[in-house]
This record gives sequence, C-alpha cells and structure tokens, in this order.
Amino acid sequence: MIGSGWSFWLKRRYAASPHIFTHRLRGRHRPNDSGDFTYLSGTPLCDVLDDLRKRGKTLASAPAIDDISLGGWVASGSHGSAGPGAKHMVSPPTHSKFVELGVVDVNGDATRIKPNSYQGQIVLWVKLRTVDNIDIQKEARPMSDTNAEWWLRDDAVQRMLFVNGHDAFLLKWVIHRPLMHSDHRDPHCCSRECGWFQADVLGAMCKGACLKWFGRHALRTWKGVSTLDYAIRFVPRLTPVSALISVLVANVNFELFFMINPRSLLNGQHSLSNLVKVLQKYHSVYGGRSEIRHGGSRDEETLDSYPLMLDVGIVGERNVATYIACLKRYTLWIKNVSVHMGKMDVTNSLVQLGYTVVPRHADGRHDV
Ligand SMILES: Cc1cc2nc3c(=O)[nH]c(=O)nc-3n(C[C@H](O)[C@H](O)[C@H](O)COP(=O)(O)OP(=O)(O)OC[C@H]3O[C@@H](n4cnc5c(N)ncnc54)[C@H](O)[C@@H]3O)c2cc1C
Repeated sequence: MIGSGWSFWLKRRYAASPHIFTHRLRGRHRPNDSGDFTYLSGTPLCDVLDDLRKRGKTLASAPAIDDISLGGWVASGSHGSAGPGAKHMVSPPTHSKFVELGVVDVNGDATRIKPNSYQGQIVLWVKLRTVDNIDIQKEARPMSDTNAEWWLRDDAVQRMLFVNGHDAFLLKWVIHRPLMHSDHRDPHCCSRECGWFQADVLGAMCKGACLKWFGRHALRTWKGVSTLDYAIRFVPRLTPVSALISVLVANVNFELFFMINPRSLLNGQHSLSNLVKVLQKYHSVYGGRSEIRHGGSRDEETLDSYPLMLDVGIVGERNVATYIACLKRYTLWIKNVSVHMGKMDVTNSLVQLGYTVVPRHADGRHDV
C-alpha cells in the first residue's frame, strides 16, 4: 500500500510489489454536514484539515507534516505534538484522534473496527475525533530547570522541544485568553517556513547561529496567536529539491518511544534536563538534532507512565549506533523501546545495545 510514500523515502526503501496506490481514494466518505467527520484513507491530511476548518473544526493533534495520507498515518502509528491540554478539549477526555476505522479483514471483507483493534489491515476510511478550531498562543523559552517545569505543565495544548549541539528550545502552545498579551498573529508571509527553520533546522546546521538569531531575537518575539489547525502543521512542505538534498547529505530520521513517568521528568536522575544534556553531548560532536514530544500529564494521579517520543535527525547511518549508545546513559533503567514504523528502522542497533524492541500500535491510547 502506498499513501503519500514518505515512509519509503525515510526508510530509503522501495515499496514491495504489487503496488497499491491510494491517491484516488480521497475525499469525505458519506458526506454529511451533521458532524460525521469520516474521510477515505488516501485523503491527504492537508485536505482533511482544510475541509474541517471550513466547518470550524480541526484535530487536537496530528503529525506535523500535512501531505501524508490518512491511511499512512494510521498504518505507521504516526502522532502529533499534543500536550495534556489537548486531551481535555474533547469530552470525555481522550488522546485518541480516531473514532473508528473502515478496514479490509482477513477474509477480504470490509468491516469497521475501533482504533485499538488495528493490526496492519488495509485501511479504507477513517472517522476522526474533531475539536473546535480555537485560538492558541505559542511561547518559546531556552532550556533550564525552571522552564522545563513550565513546559511540562498541564496547560500545554501543543509542545515540542528541539535539542542541538549548542541550544535547546522549549516550545509550548496554550489556549489563548483575551487578556493574554499578543501583538503577533500567525500565519503571515513565510511564517511556517521561518518558524520551522529557526526552531529545528538552523541549530542543527550552523554552530552558534541558532543562539544568535533564534535565541536572542525570536525567543522574545515568539508569542504569536494562531488557530490550532495552523499550529499543528508545524513542518512546511518539503520541495523535491530539499528532499533530494536530504538524501545526498545522508540525513537519517528515526524515532524512538519509551515509557516514562511524567513526574519523574521534573527532577532527579530521569529529569528532562538530564536527557537534554545527554543528547546535547552527542549533537555537539556529531551534529544533527533531536526533537522531544510528550503528551503525559504530571498532575494525573492514575498515570504511571506515558510515551516519550524522541525524533532524531542525524547525518550518516553509521552514527545511529553511537546515538543510541549515548542515549543509553539516560535510559539505563529502560528495557523496552518502540520504533516509529513510518521512519528509518533502527531495530538492529537497539537490539545490539541490549534493548527489547516492542511493537507500537496505532491504538490511540497513548498516542497523541
Ligand atoms: C518532513 C516529515 C515530517 C514528519 N513528521 C511526523 C510527525 O510529526 N509525527 C509522526 O509521527 N511522523 C512524522 N513523519 C513520518 C510520517 O508521518 C510517516 O512516514 C507516514 O507514514 C507518512 O504517511 P504516508 O501517507 O506518506 O505513508 P506511506 O509512506 O505511503 O505509507 C506508510 C505505511 O503505511 C502503509 N499504508 C499506506 N496507506 C495504507 C492504507 N490505506 N492501508 C494500510 N496501510 C497503508 C504503507 O504500506 C506503509 O507501510 C514525518 C515525515 C516527514 C517526511
């Protein structure tokens, strides 16, 4: 099955024959304006978000790249950057953004299943859980213990943390209230491209430049208000040229998931600051960057652990094992790790370094 094909590009792998493309399986399924948000699986996420916006709706969370297909999103277990604040936007509170899936079962019959029963079947349609497309406001801060505490608060509707060899930046979006100061509205000309470039790419590319440009200027001015549907699409469209350059410079992108108690991230040996220090040590020598996402709530009494998502962009496949060996200094107490099914597969390196690689399902229970 081939949706938009990004996972094959990230894995540097051809799709196995026979090829089934889903690009004609697009649009609303059983169009119905009475609140039925169901789309065919080949529909690009951008089309879905545009259609929802017209109805005053959006998703509480979605992968940051918006030209993936819905089927590719489900099958790869992709996720967004939601914080615990997003969960409380739906009633009853839940992290799952899929309500129901239409799939082909083992007998070749079309059937409907709950997202937590999905086990790699062909996806025909996806019924989405939507939220109101409210205004949210972003803020960026440099890494420190105090700012890590601020980042981990439950008011986060979206949050992400970028780490490179020189800096680490915490980004957080909260619900915009009328009394919150803001003189900046997104989107405007090139706002998505500039925001992504400043926060993610610049620090990984140029030593110190990130601190000078982003750190001193943008951190103070990153207070923009936007609708939620703009904020969740953080990554701009990759042009064929930038996709080719990424291959030519041997850029690799993989993602690891491990369970962690959200409260342990606040201080002590398992703190977010310690993780950032370990990653910075790697990136200061080998370049590249890591992005941390975590939807766990530190205030929810019942929650023992929640996935921490570590998206890694480095140069050269040969450096993957070094990265994981470095990470092990922080994750010494962790045995089980999952890998992102829609990105480069680093299972062998993980197993060689003593981890057990557990499957990750698109069940929506932990996935945000
Ligand atoms: C720039 C960039 C940013 C990204 N950001 C994020 C992010 O924020 N969060 C995240 O989690 N991931 C992210 N990803 C990874 C991306 O979400 C995955 O690679 C995803 O699989 C891409 O969707 P696609 O439609 O291109 O899928 P494809 O690559 O076409 O397919 C992915 C897998 O799903 C299968 N498949 C496709 N359609 C169906 C179907 N209808 N039924 C059953 N199986 C099907 C395919 O066989 C394949 O195994 C990013 C990738 C890029 C390149």
